[in-house]
Amino acid sequence: MIEKVLIANRGEIALRILRACRELGIRTVAVYSTADRDLKHVRLADESVCIGPPSPADSYLNIPAIISAAEVTDADAIHPGYGFLSENAHFAECVENSGFIFIGPTPDVIRVMGDKVAAIREMKAAGVPCVPGSDGPLGDDERENLRLARDIGYPVMIKAAGGGGGRGMRVVHHERNLLEAIATTRAEAKAAFGNDQVYMEKFLDDPRHIEIQVLADRHGHVIHLGERDCSIQRRHQKVIEESPAPGLGEKQRGKIGQRCVEACKRIGYRSAGTFEFLYQDGQFYFIEMNTRVQVEHPVTEMVTGVDIVKWQIRIAAGERLAVEQKDVEWRGHAIECRINAEDPETFLPAPGTITRYHAPGGPGVRMDSHIYAGYKVPPYYDSMIGKLIVHAEDRDTAIARMQGALSELVIDGIKTNIALHQRILDDAGFRRGGVNIHYLEKTLLNRRS
Ligand code: ADP
Repeated sequence: MIEKVLIANRGEIALRILRACRELGIRTVAVYSTADRDLKHVRLADESVCIGPPSPADSYLNIPAIISAAEVTDADAIHPGYGFLSENAHFAECVENSGFIFIGPTPDVIRVMGDKVAAIREMKAAGVPCVPGSDGPLGDDERENLRLARDIGYPVMIKAAGGGGGRGMRVVHHERNLLEAIATTRAEAKAAFGNDQVYMEKFLDDPRHIEIQVLADRHGHVIHLGERDCSIQRRHQKVIEESPAPGLGEKQRGKIGQRCVEACKRIGYRSAGTFEFLYQDGQFYFIEMNTRVQVEHPVTEMVTGVDIVKWQIRIAAGERLAVEQKDVEWRGHAIECRINAEDPETFLPAPGTITRYHAPGGPGVRMDSHIYAGYKVPPYYDSMIGKLIVHAEDRDTAIARMQGALSELVIDGIKTNIALHQRILDDAGFRRGGVNIHYLEKTLLNRRS
């Protein structure tokens, strides 16, 4: 039984978790840094505890402070949200060892999936298609590494086993640069992730980013909720996500979804999770698994009607997943725009005080955001201040609905990327659907407007 959940996060996802808890009749504990006293969910939570100064290392990443907060408030479970400690196996272990329920997979599974080399090994064994590559970490034998790259075919990518957030990757186009690239990536990986293992993959030149959402309970029941297309990215950061993926048929969805379900069963996965793939020439290539709820989960919720965050909590409480695969239906089309406080020219974070705020409304419009008029966006955290999600009967209608919603959205006092979203939604390439992950940066943003 879970009667009280501590929300170990901030911003829109903390509010999203709070809303799920309220619907389930579960009490909530908000933890916050001194910069976040005015966060919306802190005001709405049943209890709140300040866990430290603004710097994430001292607050949202401060494991002893979070565990103590759970102890003093007598919480039953901890929801990590995304980012921060959500994929930290040591944190999950501390939570469990202190007698609380971690709302997520087991620490062991988090650890395996956090090591990309280990994750790929597991996926291959489960029959999930992966990018052609080195089949494990690279050794020190230079001749062997040169031979491997020649076999895979240039360009290749050198990736850190412990990498994340788009860091620890390097593309190599020519043999003459290979050995140096391996050495540099290794050194960087050691400094950044404390793990100098690197591996090699074929660099795909025209991929889309398509990911599969799964839900697994503690009783071995696993379903997939279909795919999201997250190809609109800048610097490996997703900007717009949608579901279904344009042009992907039901047959392909079923096939790749089933592979992910089988992989979950093999690794003993539980809770919500996402298999990320690159998709090129009709083929899926696994790149990594996220063992947490994702920013873009709402588009899947909108098309399937399944509440992913509520299920995370119910699964953690030991409930059986009541949704069968055959009951999952994908209706219409959903799009999400990530609203960031950032300079539209430089893309640099632009914190400050919001003087006016009007959220859009109408049928099929959802705004997941913690902001309000008078709210001060602090400079210490991610610049995302909300997500605007729309759902409609088909993709064209969803695009039109998003355009309408964006034109209604008013956020004054700070700079935002609303105009960028309008530009993308107006773009002929985006409207056709199915653009690759380089399209936003290399084509759309490069064009004179
Ligand atoms: P991270 O954990 O840092 O997000 P990923 O392995 O998910 O790392 O890769 C991040 C992004 O890097 C992908 O979304 C894609 O844009 C690019 N990428 C990764 N691997 C390849 C590859 N083999 N070929 C082409 N692009 C890749």
